[in-house]
Amino acid sequence: MRIFKLETFGTEFVCFVKATADTGDIGWGQLSTYNADITADVFHRQIAPHALGTDALDLEDTLNLIAEREHKYPGSYLRRAMAGLDTALWDLRGRLEGKPVVSLLGGVPGPLRAYASSMKRDITPEAEAARLCRLRDEHGFTAFKWRVGAECGRDRDEWPGRTEAVIPIVSNALGDGIDKLVDANSGFSTARAIEVGRMLEDQGIGHFESLAPIGRSTRPQRSATRCRSTWPGASRIAN
Ligand SMILES: [Mg+2]
Repeated sequence: MRIFKLETFGTEFVCFVKATADTGDIGWGQLSTYNADITADVFHRQIAPHALGTDALDLEDTLNLIAEREHKYPGSYLRRAMAGLDTALWDLRGRLEGKPVVSLLGGVPGPLRAYASSMKRDITPEAEAARLCRLRDEHGFTAFKWRVGAECGRDRDEWPGRTEAVIPIVSNALGDGIDKLVDANSGFSTARAIEVGRMLEDQGIGHFESLAPIGRSTRPQRSATRCRSTWPGASRIAN
């Protein structure tokens, strides 16, 4: 069974992938979110040309092949697009076998616990606490993640004192029996991250995400002009 057609359907924010095999079997997957339209271009230029015609049931080999052919593009640039193929082919296999993907991976289907994530920084600690408590009471969430620092803020807070305030105010408002997480979105230096970590310890907050920026690569990047799909949103095997 060979991969015959790869299509994308998306916006700037989200993008789905439809993989069609030469048997007509299909699978749906998803590219990574944010700038998904750009990732779709990467998908059609640097993923699909290598994947088309490969064994739809030998995903591992195809992903290795793509990584080898695009070895100048390590990291998330390529992986954000590879995710669309990866998830689509798992879905295709699940449909063929009549099983959920979790079963193919050796797991058991069941309820999945979710946490509520704030996604906001331009909100006062008091308003944030009220908003998250409302979600707790109305929807029954038992875990919450909120924002500290400023995104890639180099230790400058969203406004002075917000981090010191938002940690205890939200934590105390949510109360006991709730798992508490915070995300700094690369806002801190190591020294500041340790300071903030101590505040989190004091509040029993057990998850501190994206403390400091990931180091920049010094490897030079270059653009590539490769096979273009025949129309935006699709790549096909050329017959
Ligand atoms: Mg995060």
